[in-house]
Amino acid sequence: MSKWIWRFLSEEKSIWSGVLEGRYGSVSNRIWGCQEPISISMESLWWRDLMEMCGEEGGAMKKINSRLGDGHSILFWKSKWFGAEALYLQFPALFNEISFKHISVLEAGFWKDATWEWKLIKGEEVLGREASLEIRELLHCLGGIFPKVGIKDRHVWPYESSNCFSVKSCYILFNQNSVVVPSVGLMESLRCNWKAALPSKVQIFGWRLLRDRIPTRRQLLNRNIISLQQEVRCVFCEGQIEDSGHIFLQCPMLVSLKWRVFSWLEIQLPNVEDCCEFLLVWTEQLQGTMKNNIAAAIWLTFCWCIWKVRNEIIFTNAKLDIDELYYKIVWYSWWWLSSTSQLKCNFYEWYKNPLLCTHC
Ligand SMILES: [Zn+2]
Repeated sequence: MSKWIWRFLSEEKSIWSGVLEGRYGSVSNRIWGCQEPISISMESLWWRDLMEMCGEEGGAMKKINSRLGDGHSILFWKSKWFGAEALYLQFPALFNEISFKHISVLEAGFWKDATWEWKLIKGEEVLGREASLEIRELLHCLGGIFPKVGIKDRHVWPYESSNCFSVKSCYILFNQNSVVVPSVGLMESLRCNWKAALPSKVQIFGWRLLRDRIPTRRQLLNRNIISLQQEVRCVFCEGQIEDSGHIFLQCPMLVSLKWRVFSWLEIQLPNVEDCCEFLLVWTEQLQGTMKNNIAAAIWLTFCWCIWKVRNEIIFTNAKLDIDELYYKIVWYSWWWLSSTSQLKCNFYEWYKNPLLCTHC
């Protein structure tokens, strides 16, 4: 079945593809889930199975990468052509709000005096805060990217050295159980972040953290801003490469801090390495004792304080002081939660028994 999907994409102009187009409408739009069937009962079983497979999260369809040529046959939001995931998954809030959801890359902008300009929203459209941030970041990322006139788009199956789909590699891939669907957890944790009772600068930090966009050394390395020869290890333990999972969840130098915060809130948590997943487990564990927006605010404050100290160590040669860091987390969480009217207690009460203060 996956082989058929591949053939639709790579043999778009063939006669048989034209026949199917005549019967079922735009084949590529149907494959990428942009168009509903005209009438299900008119469709053959084979075609219905195929379309169902295209829509599967983590299915073969979602594994195909597209290489931008003229942008004619790549869908701007739904195809995986820029980054590790399709753009509708990378920028979910923006995708939710815009009205041009099913455009090709070529339709997502225009040429103006030999310069390509992206046009992702209708002139009169007003975006919410989250979507505005996302569009700003997306446009920033797309700087210097434009359709190449006269070059055909290409579709690439990344699990074969030839870049062409093979049933064997597809079979191996799915047997390895390597299907990962990060988007559900990501969207859920982003929702949690925006609801957290925090000042917007911390929410923006949280938004970057959950999307793995804070400039950790791993990130800088991935973006070729620094090279392996430069310092890429964690500033705290100087052992492992610094990425967000390591600094906020795994770093051995911060284990005692983590346990102090956990015991302050009287919780025990499983060992989770991913920040999005951690935030969800964290809010779930604290559900009986405080509201989700308070729980999320505390953990994001924890990360924010660690990130601040990390920067101070790099830029002003500060030293790590676990006691001081712990005190900062307790202080800032109280300060921010009080100023958003989520807490009615004084700092001493918060420091001594946070659960009494948050009990709902
Ligand atoms: Zn470390």
